Amino acid sequence: MNPLAPYAANPALSIGRQFNEPPSTTRNAFQRDRDRIIHSTAFRRLEYKTQVFVNHEGDLFRTRLTHSLEVAQMARGIARTLNLHEDLTEAIALAHDLGHTPFGHAGQDALNECMRDFGGFEHNLQSLRVVEQLEQRYAEFDGLNLTFEVREGILKHCSIKNARQLGDVGQRFIDKTSPSLEAQLTNYADEIAYNNHDIDDGLRSGLITIEQLSKVELFAQNLAEVKTKYPKLEQKRLIHETVRRMINTLVVDLCTQSAHNIAQQQPQSIADIRQLPPLVNFSDEIAAQNQKLKQFLRKNLYHHYKVNRMSAKAARIVRELFAVFFENTGLLPNEFQTYAEIDKPRAVADYIAGMTDRYAIREHRKLFTVEEYL
Ligand code: MG
Repeated sequence: MNPLAPYAANPALSIGRQFNEPPSTTRNAFQRDRDRIIHSTAFRRLEYKTQVFVNHEGDLFRTRLTHSLEVAQMARGIARTLNLHEDLTEAIALAHDLGHTPFGHAGQDALNECMRDFGGFEHNLQSLRVVEQLEQRYAEFDGLNLTFEVREGILKHCSIKNARQLGDVGQRFIDKTSPSLEAQLTNYADEIAYNNHDIDDGLRSGLITIEQLSKVELFAQNLAEVKTKYPKLEQKRLIHETVRRMINTLVVDLCTQSAHNIAQQQPQSIADIRQLPPLVNFSDEIAAQNQKLKQFLRKNLYHHYKVNRMSAKAARIVRELFAVFFENTGLLPNEFQTYAEIDKPRAVADYIAGMTDRYAIREHRKLFTVEEYL
């Protein structure tokens, strides 16, 4: 590892954990957090949760697990380039999607709608809830008892109303201060990862085409470069060569612009970073190109009629599961029944949010199809 910048997060100077624990003898605090995340139940479930394509649609598409690994890989690379703490970025990246519902955004929107009168549902807050409360594996505490820095990185956005209930990690949304640079860059790594793998998966599934994408500058420029260098390249390699150049364009720009911002502001410590505006960002030109790419994906992939059909089905499953459990909490597994006595809607939301795509489909079938047994 490169020497750390003075403004990098430092595990030895961590703000600490919710419950005091003796330090590990072999790992720094952020490495220990990463290990706890990898060993969690919610992490294993990421394998069967998806963002755009539902899990059973094909084995070649990204799942939230492979997405999280791609984010961790990019975040570590960016952290290393900027002399920031790689282990912290890795822990944040691996945990960032733990709170996602089954069926990607369709599932989350449906659950949020069901929870409208009960405080709503937000996957980002739910990720925090998973690591603070829902994982029940340790003798002395609920959750994973992660360091403040990892929990801060997981909570990317938050309303003031919610922030007031979250204690230490909510405070920055009230004070309008910044999180660590490691948290900032991991957020960008997430965005770079999903935009590019959605292009790759979108092309493979045939929902979008190279011709359509040729109208998007970021794609077109890199495609032209590959075609000039390799005029006879077959399609599969052509796509990969283009997408990897796009990722490189974005990552290099992010590192260059962020290093420039840091050099201008001259932060001396992580305390300075918290007081400054966010220093990790793209150049104006790449930010604009990236925005166009996102618009393209929203219009042509996320709202493709075939995706809409799956989303509608997914939303229906979530809504019906919510209604049936809400109506009769006796249908919930025992531990959720106990919690339902304290907070019924939240217990139902937690149970549904924890489901994988296929588990939700099976659970729905068990509850609504007469032929299915327990
Ligand atoms: Mg993500």
